[in-house]
Amino acid sequence: RADPALRVSDGDDVAGWWPRPEAASDKYTRGVVGIATGSAKYPGAALLSVSGALAGPTGMVRYAGSAHQEVVRAHPSVVAVDRVGHAGRVQAWVCGSGLGTDDDARRTLRSVLATSLPVVLDADALTLLVDGRHADDLRRDAPLVITPHDGEFKRLAGEAPGPDRVGAACKLAAWINGVVLLKGDRTIVATPSGEVWANPTGTSALATAGSGDVLAGLLGSLLAAGLPPERAAVAAAYVHGLAGRWAAGAGPATAPDVAAALRPVLAGLLEET
Ligand code: AMP
Ligand code: MG
Repeated sequence: RADPALRVSDGDDVAGWWPRPEAASDKYTRGVVGIATGSAKYPGAALLSVSGALAGPTGMVRYAGSAHQEVVRAHPSVVAVDRVGHAGRVQAWVCGSGLGTDDDARRTLRSVLATSLPVVLDADALTLLVDGRHADDLRRDAPLVITPHDGEFKRLAGEAPGPDRVGAACKLAAWINGVVLLKGDRTIVATPSGEVWANPTGTSALATAGSGDVLAGLLGSLLAAGLPPERAAVAAAYVHGLAGRWAAGAGPATAPDVAAALRPVLAGLLEET
């Protein structure tokens, strides 16, 4: 597709955008990300999205949801509570991965959308939106990023992305007035105004359960640290892809391996600039 607006994400850009702590930063000024993911049925999604967030630039990760005990056991630095309303100070939310679609999940999504904070919506949050009862809540002033894979895209948009993935992502971005990160082997990031990037770092090593949850967490951390949503999406997809490649170097990678690879990959990326 010859699309003059399409840019390929660039490692130097990503490194330049990546928020770095200043000498006098504290954990709050570095940003606080809230993670509202997972459920009794899918506690692993909570752990994976938290892992992604912990590798990001924020100074604090807060978790709100039914996997709070598992989360704090696995990650002692995380402040974990049972619901969004109890989380305290947060600067951006990630909602959806492994959340389920029951009434609890619905309440969680509603609480997140009721804030005036930047939000990443993934997985079950997208499924919950489709029934229409939340569609109006999407028209918010604060930044919104959604991270559908093809199935989630199809449920949300009413049709599959098709061969023109760039056009499809742009159209959905305009419709929701938010950034669309359309996952795939070449992940597309599109803004409502038609800015669009293709991610060059993808690897089929990422085609493994839970890898999208790691991405959502990392993206939320970048938003909470103050990056504009399109930059946060481009940067998260880029680094996630590098982490997939790194993890695959040691053999077949699982999502925790991808999360663990985020730190060495970032160390390499950020020291080069
Ligand atoms: P999810 O389906 O939510 O677990 O997300 C899967 C993640 O893996 C997304 O970041 C996709 O972009 C990535 N992914 C899946 N399949 C491939 C592939 N064949 N090549 C590159 N990336 C992929
Ligand atoms: Mg997913």
